[in-house]
Amino acid sequence: MLVHVRRAALALVLAASLAPACGRPREHSAGNAESGSRSEAVAIAPRPAEPPEARDARERLVRDVAARPPWAGAEWSPRVLAAMRAVPRHLFVPSASIQQAYADHPLPIGEGQTISQPTIVAVMTDALELSGNERVLEIGTGSGYQAAVLSLLVRQVLTIEIVESLGAAARTRLAELGYKNVEVRIGDGYLGWPEKAPFDRVMLTAAPPEIPRALVDQLAEGGILVAPVGEQGEAQRLVRWTKRGGALEKQDLGAVRFVPMVNPP
Ligand code: SAH
Repeated sequence: MLVHVRRAALALVLAASLAPACGRPREHSAGNAESGSRSEAVAIAPRPAEPPEARDARERLVRDVAARPPWAGAEWSPRVLAAMRAVPRHLFVPSASIQQAYADHPLPIGEGQTISQPTIVAVMTDALELSGNERVLEIGTGSGYQAAVLSLLVRQVLTIEIVESLGAAARTRLAELGYKNVEVRIGDGYLGWPEKAPFDRVMLTAAPPEIPRALVDQLAEGGILVAPVGEQGEAQRLVRWTKRGGALEKQDLGAVRFVPMVNPP
């Protein structure tokens, strides 16, 4: 009963706070050299307008995420958990879903697309082994939430979205929330972003049948690419590739379910 009451209260407070929280630009820094000296910190300005209920709900979510290892035999990076604690997921979901913002599951964001489950966002971010100075390419901007999490942990995030309305909305949202080191491009992720390559890290948040050649080519030597791979309707695997000597070393991180990466060439 108490749980229901608290959830209802949260929904009300979050709904009431949504408009003003979105409207005001906020400052974030990229979590690079500055935050590197404090290994558990991501540099982020306080959010005075945020209701404590949202922070508490997010804190509980991240505690639950952290209770299980990211994948067998691995440990969480404290910086990744700090970034998950810092990004207000409720500002990246449609207002109709706001009560669900801090539950650990994907949510619809329109155009038949979804914002990923928080655990998956954390796992994929962790798998990139970020230390602060990287330039990262994300394919599948969606709501912009994953890009926001990444932006606190790296120098620059370049992100590509094929659905124009989603990409445009994410660009506006990220700018209004002060995530300054993120650039959104509307386009086809199969082509990557050749003008900005090479990338230290690449993350796909939509599943291609196999890893697009252009994205491998645009990955720097020593770089890491994380992606869900597999035909729709068949088992998809989350895979991490590391580029060494021009070749790719593969590590399987487990079964996943993602929306398809559309337009395979
Ligand atoms: N990272 C997102 C979730 C993405 S869902 C978030 O944090 O909210 C996957 C996204 O990939 C969808 O928005 C979909 O439109 C996009 N997508 C699918 N195929 C694509 C392609 N070929 N190029 C770029 N984006 C693509």
